[in-house]
Amino acid sequence: MCGGSRHQDLGAIAAGDFFAGRVLPTAIPGGHLWRCRDCDSLFRHPILTAAEYHRLYEGGAAEQWSGDETRLDLEVVRSVALGSTGAKRVLDVGCGNGDFLASLPAAWERFGIEPSTGAGALAARRGIGIAAPTLGELPADARFDVITIIDVIEHIPEPAPFLEQAFAHLSPGGVLIVSTGNAQVPVWRGVFGPRFWYCSFPEHITFPSRPFYERCARNLGGEVAGVTLTRYRDLSLWKFAVLGLIQMVYWVSPQLLDWIGRGIDALRGAPAPRRQHFSPGIGGVFEDHWVVAIRRPGG
Ligand SMILES: [Zn+2]
Repeated sequence: MCGGSRHQDLGAIAAGDFFAGRVLPTAIPGGHLWRCRDCDSLFRHPILTAAEYHRLYEGGAAEQWSGDETRLDLEVVRSVALGSTGAKRVLDVGCGNGDFLASLPAAWERFGIEPSTGAGALAARRGIGIAAPTLGELPADARFDVITIIDVIEHIPEPAPFLEQAFAHLSPGGVLIVSTGNAQVPVWRGVFGPRFWYCSFPEHITFPSRPFYERCARNLGGEVAGVTLTRYRDLSLWKFAVLGLIQMVYWVSPQLLDWIGRGIDALRGAPAPRRQHFSPGIGGVFEDHWVVAIRRPGG
């Protein structure tokens, strides 16, 4: 994370066998959840190699990251993007099928970075220019007024160089908007620890803190212009209750949630391959996300 050397072991994360929308033949060990004592970020360790992650994401499903629910975090990202004066050229890093970009004014020039060719083709059909499959392959002189990184940073093993790479493509006065889980939310630190839903997904490996973003921005010659706390999505009351219960079961015992999940799959005759491990996908129950805006001076 920040390069610090003092860290604290918060405990073991349960194994997972569902990755990028696909059931894996063998589970990925969960490793442990750690806290950096220098910058207060959280991270998973040990993790897989870059090549192993690449292979797993490549085999992922095209529609896996899309959804039709009311995403409260996206409303915050949209309002920060619309609030930056004169913003006309926007880049969404990890744009998926272009759901978020399609919600921005049609007068804006909208570009996406997307490694999945299936998802990229869906985005292109909606008038979104796929600028490159990865940030590293973007032409060096490409500049954008707004760069959004939504539900991506928690998947990146080295978030500092990743943010640096994105920041280099900001126009003077431009803004980088990161939407992800709040690494410092008290319910995670104080109650659920390594059994918090957000770190239960095997794809989620790094959770930068506010001091991490501030240090990063300073090193890049920018500044954190704002941090907005938000829930991930809007939930009906009954959904809120059911999802809250699922988090409690996982907290008591991840194995208990596995047994319940396997039992439900057996009852409904779910097709093979079936999951052996279940993560509580309870986004929206807690106000555990944040939208961090990093501004580049000038313009
Ligand atoms: Zn650190």
